[in-house]
Amino acid sequence: MNSKQEEMKCRDYAVNWHPYTQMKTATDIIPIVRAAGSYLYDANNKQYIDAVSSWWVTLHGHAHPYIAQKLSEQLHTLEQVIFAGFTHQPAIELSERLLALLPVAQTKVFYTDNGSTAIEVALKMAIQANYNKGGKKTKILAFKNGYHGDTFGAMSVSGRGVWTDPFGAMLFEVLFIDAPTKSNLEETKAFIQQHAEETICFIYEPLVQGAGGMLMHQAEDLSALMQFCKSKGILLIQDEIFVGFGRTGKLFAANHLTESPDVMCFSKGLTGGTLPLGITTCTEAIYQSFFDSDKTKALFHGHSFTASPLACTAALASMDLLLMDETQQNIAAISHQHHLFIQRLKHHPQVLDARQCGTIFAMEWKTSGETSYFSDMHDILYPFFLERGILMRPLGNIIYLVPPYCMSEEDLSYIYSCIEEALELMCK
Ligand SMILES: *Cc1c(COP(=O)(O)O)cnc(C)c1O
Repeated sequence: MNSKQEEMKCRDYAVNWHPYTQMKTATDIIPIVRAAGSYLYDANNKQYIDAVSSWWVTLHGHAHPYIAQKLSEQLHTLEQVIFAGFTHQPAIELSERLLALLPVAQTKVFYTDNGSTAIEVALKMAIQANYNKGGKKTKILAFKNGYHGDTFGAMSVSGRGVWTDPFGAMLFEVLFIDAPTKSNLEETKAFIQQHAEETICFIYEPLVQGAGGMLMHQAEDLSALMQFCKSKGILLIQDEIFVGFGRTGKLFAANHLTESPDVMCFSKGLTGGTLPLGITTCTEAIYQSFFDSDKTKALFHGHSFTASPLACTAALASMDLLLMDETQQNIAAISHQHHLFIQRLKHHPQVLDARQCGTIFAMEWKTSGETSYFSDMHDILYPFFLERGILMRPLGNIIYLVPPYCMSEEDLSYIYSCIEEALELMCK
């Protein structure tokens, strides 16, 4: 073992508390010293293919020279300025370009600095829009198994489980509904109807429920549900934090849907995964319910790093790359490769389900035991892939791929072959 690697591990363990990690039982941590394209390199120069885009954020590969160049220029021009009472070119340009790119009518952009806070702002917009108009509604609708972040509001509207149990008593009440299918639509509508008068908004992850296990539903079923909510005066909050910016094969999940939301949330791939940034957009009607000579009707929310010029610059550079023909072709190619792989997997005796939505691939293993987040599968599969130079993070018995768009056909094929090797091993 290289001593630098060991030294970094020891020093890390002494001072760092890692996210979503039981530090006592945590498997060996891997110090990464550099990255390029789809690859991460540890202190021993071992290469890992980043098959999860480093928690779903990296769109165009690591340390992208174009984003780095743009950031470096911005860093020498304007690194930060308060966004209350002041503005700057990157925020103006990013808002203009994002609003123009969205296939639905959103007219204003509110900046934060991560996905969870983008959700908090979305919830506040919906709740206060109702309040500012003198409304008395108090209920919020959300999907079971949803995930919207880790702050209290975001936790409240997320599916409940071991993650939220310690805070259960402090979370606000939410009406949970099943993700839409052709067969449950009428039943769900009846349930919503019962609560329509008191319901402010419906928050949902469109098409793919990521952290819930890459659960997927059909665009037309979600559109039907959205349409029903709208007809009942229930505001729609569309969380595109994971699925936005090409993940689903189209620029946004909104490009698959026939109904338009009132509020939308973006983060993760927004900056190409370079810097933290959150965006909440809204329709003109939502904005107008705050726009008043009465100062108390303002949205009293802001973060120190709201609309960071650096993060906005990274987002603009990422958008340039995303819109290039080459990137769009890569997205289509990854989607096609996933499709072919699923055909191959479908009849495997060890596979319970294999599914995809654009560049997002997921496969469920048949397990005899429990299939929770804590199932042993993770403990077997995570090191199995690491040994083969692949970073993947199984969610219980579900393994998934969220590759950066620059991933080569060869690397993706290699990952598939390792998945098949794991399947053969599990058969024995
Ligand atoms: C990751 C995620 C969030 C939370 O974003 P953070 O930046 O991790 O706070 C919210 N919604 C969805 C759908 C996500 O995948």
